[in-house]
Amino acid sequence: MQHSLGLQKGLIGLVNGYAGEAHAGRNNLVAAHELLHTLGATDKYDMDTLEPLWPDGYADPTQYPLYPQTRAEIMSGRLQVSPGWLMLPPSLDHAVIGPATAIEINWLAPHNNL
Ligand SMILES: [Zn+2]
Repeated sequence: MQHSLGLQKGLIGLVNGYAGEAHAGRNNLVAAHELLHTLGATDKYDMDTLEPLWPDGYADPTQYPLYPQTRAEIMSGRLQVSPGWLMLPPSLDHAVIGPATAIEINWLAPHNNL
């Protein structure tokens, strides 16, 4: 997602994509990530290490054992296979919108009394 961005003010998204059909999955991931920024979603990874932040940056934060994760939360952008091993998911099939992101874009209410 380097050099791609999504701005909430102005609803602007810019995707630095890769040419070629083989890259469509990754480009779609970046496009979805930046689109969600325009709707108010925040990044859920550590800016220094790029590692997903637990729990909101994990697709399956309560899975036991925690690793390997097999899907990525869309706003963390990467999945943690093991401590120190990050992977870019190959397509949106391997990404989910987690509850924290869903609340930020108003798909879920912040407090659910069910
Ligand atoms: Zn981002």
